[in-house]
Amino acid sequence: MLTRIKKYWNDQLTETIRHAYKTKYYSKLFKELNISSRSDLSEIPITSSLDYRNNIFEFLATDLSKIKFISQTTGTTGEPKLIFFTQKDLDIMRTRAEVCWSWFNFNKEDRIAVLSSYTNPPLGQYYENAFASLRVMQYPAGVTRCLQSQMNNIAKLGISIIATHPSILTRLTKTYIQLNPKTNIKNIILSGEPFSKEYRTKMENIWNTKLINLYGSMEADIIAINCNKYLNKHLMYKDILVEIRTEDNKIKDQGTGEIILTVLNSDGFSLLRYATGDLGTLSFRECDCSLKWPILNIKGRVDDIIFIAGMNIFPSDIEHFLLSFPEISSNYLCYLKEKEGVTILKIIIETKIRKDKLKLKILKKAYKISPEVDLLLNEGSMVIKIDFVSPGYLAQTNRKTKRIIDLRKNN
Ligand SMILES: [Zn+2]
Repeated sequence: MLTRIKKYWNDQLTETIRHAYKTKYYSKLFKELNISSRSDLSEIPITSSLDYRNNIFEFLATDLSKIKFISQTTGTTGEPKLIFFTQKDLDIMRTRAEVCWSWFNFNKEDRIAVLSSYTNPPLGQYYENAFASLRVMQYPAGVTRCLQSQMNNIAKLGISIIATHPSILTRLTKTYIQLNPKTNIKNIILSGEPFSKEYRTKMENIWNTKLINLYGSMEADIIAINCNKYLNKHLMYKDILVEIRTEDNKIKDQGTGEIILTVLNSDGFSLLRYATGDLGTLSFRECDCSLKWPILNIKGRVDDIIFIAGMNIFPSDIEHFLLSFPEISSNYLCYLKEKEGVTILKIIIETKIRKDKLKLKILKKAYKISPEVDLLLNEGSMVIKIDFVSPGYLAQTNRKTKRIIDLRKNN
């Protein structure tokens, strides 16, 4: 599979580099480095998020008058990033979405509720474009309205597909359990935040449906999505080329590390070897489904990795562990503190059960979080403390939920 896909990517690259020459940013860079359309991908330098943010208009590959949709990222610091799409870009994005929806037999009879932001960032509009080719009913529920009324509308409108984000689904689920309305949900599409296998099982049992995990970005739209076996996410390799930057800063064609993407076939702008800040595993092994497409599974954001005594701990491992206890709700919060050289990982968990037995059960198995945690606990570099709170105690927001708060720097 690797050879076939690499050949396809190489063929596409010639045109992608030629197109990138239309942008101020890449034409200047390519001339300096003597890069031509026949050059190898490895000769092209990595484009960082900062490179893009500081030179936004230099990534334009066409005249502004041809731009049909401008997207804007939230941007925690500085100016928000603008991304430019022409009609051709929007059409390519629709076709890509159409391929994905066909795996799940979505059709014009479906009715879709989008519980996503329509303002900043405009993720709702991405969904609107992605579902346009299905010509289905779309209910732009957004994220600012009361969840009870949204839940009632989902039932009354006969919604069959909900497109939202894990933190919003967690909140909606509480309302769903409270109201217990008769619904007809076929699938729930989740994007924007990674979630664990245990979260999937929990939600699928409550909603009696299947979760579709979509990994996308504002710059590249849908990058990877679950196949209909719901085991892995498959990279939309026809439009997006992915490489992996490993911990030792080497670029590999597979493995685990930062996702570096190149958008093939883009029209309004060019983005080559773009460092996403997302962590994932790219592999060319066969999946249980019939698709012979690369597998791209996501682990979280590079910024989210926790470093304790030189060890890397992924927040997804903590979630994976906590949700393996059926008594624990999917809402929890972790604090990291440091006292006399020992890191304290305090986990606050929402649960109806406050028994010491559960606390003991969690603490006894905590070494299972990951081999790194096992080592840290063993050598005494870290201790874990558990606190229980009633359901609804922990604040939930519409933004991506940050579940680990590192207070070590303040100590
Ligand atoms: Zn598959």
